[in-house]
Amino acid sequence: MQPIHELYPLLGTPRKAVITMHQKPDADAMGSALGLYHFLVQLGHEVTVISPTNWARWLYWMPGCDKVVDYELQREKAETILAKAEWLFCLDFNVLARTKQMAATLEKLPFTRILIDHHQQPDMPKFTFGISDTSKSSTCEMVYDFIIGGGFGNLINLEVSECLYAGVMTDTGSFRFPAASAAVHNMVAFLKGRGLDHTRVHENIYDNYLENRLRFIGHVLLHRMEVFYEYNTALIAISKKDLLRYEIKTGDTEGLVNYPLSIQGIRLAALVIDRDEERKWSFRSKGDFDVNTFARNYFEGGGHFNAAGGRSSASLDDTVQHFIDAMKENQAQLQEENYN
Ligand code: 5GP
Ligand code: MN
Repeated sequence: MQPIHELYPLLGTPRKAVITMHQKPDADAMGSALGLYHFLVQLGHEVTVISPTNWARWLYWMPGCDKVVDYELQREKAETILAKAEWLFCLDFNVLARTKQMAATLEKLPFTRILIDHHQQPDMPKFTFGISDTSKSSTCEMVYDFIIGGGFGNLINLEVSECLYAGVMTDTGSFRFPAASAAVHNMVAFLKGRGLDHTRVHENIYDNYLENRLRFIGHVLLHRMEVFYEYNTALIAISKKDLLRYEIKTGDTEGLVNYPLSIQGIRLAALVIDRDEERKWSFRSKGDFDVNTFARNYFEGGGHFNAAGGRSSASLDDTVQHFIDAMKENQAQLQEENYN
């Protein structure tokens, strides 16, 4: 993989480009893709954002979101665009399998693949150009660095700013996590200088749910959360019945895994959701418990040191039991007291 700055001399020639991200894109995935989109179109490139799956309704406000192609819904259209593309930007993921049904096409087409990502263990040989930096707060911060590094700060308009701010804000837990570095705050200062209304972005994302989602959270915290104090761990398991009863849609469960971490002493929080095709896991930790390794070892997943995900094709009960066994195996690390 050649460093991303080697792409700058090529940006002057208009290309057909596709930008994609991981399945069920969150605000960082969608924000980085659309932020890059609004930048590249100003340079004259023909750009399409293709999402492997659908996305949360609280992302619909993002400028350009209405033009994003949903691969699952519009497969033929997406395949036609992909077949003509010269460049494929892969944002906020680093192994093609995270694009689900799209992965086979991305694997075989002869376009130049470009990586911008902050997750661990990238599949480097798949990418011609790129940057992988696990110290970065978000892919949105990396897209910002890419634009600024090329001397294109003047192209950061309101659309770019709103998209990029959304991902930095959400991936840093509203500027709370250690990754919210001085560089992140400088970036925000720059975006503010370009006219960004950050309150609008916060409200669009956090104050834009339907009533049923809040009732669902109440139900889940009351009835579906188990706390294992001897392991400093809490687990939430959500059945299909719960999802149906509260009409839960993509994105409604975002952030739920963070609630148990607000209990004093809890350093590992796990959430499993019984989706149609698989049981989807989310893991969050505080301090030095490495959920990236945990997710890789036990749940075919990965991610970051303190935030990761995984999956299982076992039943909900069986995968919960597998988690409890895994938690017990990690008792020594979970009980260590020297975490911040
Ligand atoms: P979430 O729990 O919010 O779905 O994911 C937490 C972090 O782990 C995100 O950065 C996400 O991209 C990553 N992640 C989630 N699921 C998986 C997975 O199955 N494999 C890998 N490699 N990363 C994942
Ligand atoms: Mn991210």
